This record gives sequence, structure tokens and C-alpha cells, in this order.
Amino acid sequence: MVVRKKVVRVCRECHRVVEGGSCVICGTANLSEDWAGYVVIIDPEHSDIAKKMNITLPGRYALKVR
Ligand SMILES: [Zn+2]
Repeated sequence: MVVRKKVVRVCRECHRVVEGGSCVICGTANLSEDWAGYVVIIDPEHSDIAKKMNITLPGRYALKVR
């Protein structure tokens, strides 16, 4: 089961969960509402998932973005 809030958007560039109209990392408005797999990165330097996804900042991310 995929739990989704009503209007949670994810950045297509870095997969970060975005609150608002643009990504705080990329500054892009290239957002998607069609995503799956919620992941919270607390310590990117010691996270395999973060390394795979090229995440350098802690935060909430989506595993898959369409
Ligand atoms: Zn981004």
C-alpha cells in the first residue's frame, strides 16, 4: 500500500519531497505528483540509499518519480 497525502509533490531532478512551488535544492519547478516510495534521509554520508540517489542533504525523498 502506498500512502500518499493529497498534494505532495516531488522534485523530478533530485527526488526531494517539496513543500511549495519549487525545489529548495534545485530551484526548479519541475515537480511530479506521481511518485512512490517515501524515504527519509537523516545522514546522507552514511546512507547507501542516499549514495545511490546522489543525495547530499538530509530530508524526505521519493524512491521513484515518474
Ligand atoms: Zn530538486
